Amino acid sequence: MDNNPQQIDPPKKKVVVCGGGVIGVCTAYFLSKKGAAVTLIEQSSIACAASGKAGGFLALDWCDGSPVSSLARASFGLHRSLAEELNGRELYGYRPVNALSLSIAESENPPRSRKSKLPPWIDGPAKTPKTIGTTETTAQVHPQLFTRTLMEKAVAEYGAEVVIGKLLSVETGGGKISAVVEGGGVIDGDAVVLALGPWSSKLTLLSSIIRVNGLKAHSLVLEPKEMDAITAHALFLSYQPAHGGQPMDPEIYPRPTGEVYVCGMSSEEEVPDDPDQIEPNPDSIRVLKRVAGTVSSHLGVEARVKAEQACFLPCTDDSIPVIGEIPGMAGCFVATGHSCWGILNGPATGAAMAELVMDGGSSIVDLTRFSPARFVGGIGKRR
Ligand SMILES: Cc1cc2nc3c(=O)[nH]c(=O)nc-3n(C[C@H](O)[C@H](O)[C@H](O)COP(=O)(O)OP(=O)(O)OC[C@H]3O[C@@H](n4cnc5c(N)ncnc54)[C@H](O)[C@@H]3O)c2cc1C
Repeated sequence: MDNNPQQIDPPKKKVVVCGGGVIGVCTAYFLSKKGAAVTLIEQSSIACAASGKAGGFLALDWCDGSPVSSLARASFGLHRSLAEELNGRELYGYRPVNALSLSIAESENPPRSRKSKLPPWIDGPAKTPKTIGTTETTAQVHPQLFTRTLMEKAVAEYGAEVVIGKLLSVETGGGKISAVVEGGGVIDGDAVVLALGPWSSKLTLLSSIIRVNGLKAHSLVLEPKEMDAITAHALFLSYQPAHGGQPMDPEIYPRPTGEVYVCGMSSEEEVPDDPDQIEPNPDSIRVLKRVAGTVSSHLGVEARVKAEQACFLPCTDDSIPVIGEIPGMAGCFVATGHSCWGILNGPATGAAMAELVMDGGSSIVDLTRFSPARFVGGIGKRR
């Protein structure tokens, strides 16, 4: 008789993560690293939407004093450690950067004075430069490369799986929770995490509790001829167009991947069902090109235009992300509403969600403030 039977590992917890943006992918990464058997469902491709078209700017303390302060601080640190662990500098353009605020009036064409302390590539009519972030407190990633690298690691090293298909509904019964995918597929799990970004409200289960609005924003990716001349400075502009146009606050991020990202021009619009159907508005793209060329001659007509694009920020009614278990639906979790800070806050959201699903609570960040329960009666009830 065998008195020492081979120890059998308990079955892995099966978790279905829906949505392949930065929030779903970070959740899948940390869950699979913690030992869950993860299946991620994405309707198009990983980082096809905002998570692939964002700026990728990260700040330690810019959210201080707001409800996401602890999330942002934890996430900034996680970005730094992930970059070391995953060779982020080479694989997804992680680097500390300086951040400057500048005022630009388009009508003031003469170049700035030679005495200016601005880096020489900012050779347009920039005024009142102010350092608002240093390499200690601000950094960047290439968001699409970051998100895709994390998913690749989750698959290659921790056995996660990716299914391309559209989630139609979530069903419960028989102690299981199941994701129903277009075409008839059903993926069973012990838990489901919904990270659908601005598409969250299109799922009946979520729209009955929270409203997530999409705010459309535009961006350009330029490849300047002389990238070596362009320093690692993220620019935050107060921009006054000529002829009395509305003031704007576009942003410009040079990247170590040989490109310069320019974004701005947001408007409220209906989110199309298919992320691949999101088209930029030509007028908004024209304005961004003018902004880029006014700030720097390196970003004018001589720069190659690599991408003209638009995407939607996921915004909740109270401007605070929703991260937690859905009341009355044990095993079904939601993580969305990260607005303009989803790339920064992705890692701490994913790590906290992984703890919540696997251990029943998060030690990384106190998630109480983010609970979807706030929309279901009591404080912060949806108005
Ligand atoms: C112009 C711009 C610049 C930005 N710059 C920054 C920045 O510098 N720093 C920063 O921190 N943040 C930035 N952000 C914000 C950041 O991009 C977002 O907060 C973040 O990408 C949101 O991630 P997400 O995973 O929630 O949503 P998304 O990236 O939209 O991902 C949701 C995913 O879910 C999938 N999906 C939806 N419905 C279904 C379904 N039914 N079935 C299957 N899959 C589905 C979608 O296809 C999509 O891939 C910026 C955003 C914009 C628009």
